[in-house]
Amino acid sequence: MPYVTAYEGEALAYQLVVEPSAEATEGIRLSYVDAVETDRLYGALWYRQGITKTGRPLWKLINTPRQRRCMMRLLCQVCGRSTVDDDGRIWWLMPEPPGTTGGGMPFTHVPPCCRACIPVARAMCPRLRHKALVYTARDAEPFGVVADLYRPAAGLKAVLLQHAVEVPLDAFRRLDFALATQLLVSLDDLQRTEA
Ligand SMILES: [Zn+2]
Repeated sequence: MPYVTAYEGEALAYQLVVEPSAEATEGIRLSYVDAVETDRLYGALWYRQGITKTGRPLWKLINTPRQRRCMMRLLCQVCGRSTVDDDGRIWWLMPEPPGTTGGGMPFTHVPPCCRACIPVARAMCPRLRHKALVYTARDAEPFGVVADLYRPAAGLKAVLLQHAVEVPLDAFRRLDFALATQLLVSLDDLQRTEA
């Protein structure tokens, strides 16, 4: 099973709420009823999910903590080990070309993939089999999040507005009402290559 795949047993119960906050652009932000400091990173609230790998694997779903760990530590989405080769290049297998940030940098939600796992990843995923693109990059930096966006409603309630939206980390106002599910990274010196 790929490292980033989510499992049924990793679902956690949670309750969203709107809370006053001096750090928020408009003085209020999305939170959990029982929020702790580790629920927040890069200005966003993060989707709570376990890392037990118990229960049935959910093939199409990505585990949020493991996806974020892969991005921050440049770990392989298949085996969970380092994706940096001897030349210091980070390897990627992407189903489509990366997006472009406002500043003109390529960015992606896809975690890196070590060189050894590229054939494995191709074989496992029908989407990747034929048209997957192999890239290397010199560096990857947090750029944004994929998030569900909420809006405040009466009684400090949070109402879902949009599902799976890309939000840059400098969009502070939108981040205040984002529930992040994946980390986006911008890619420095990205180059197409062959596996
Ligand atoms: Zn690997």
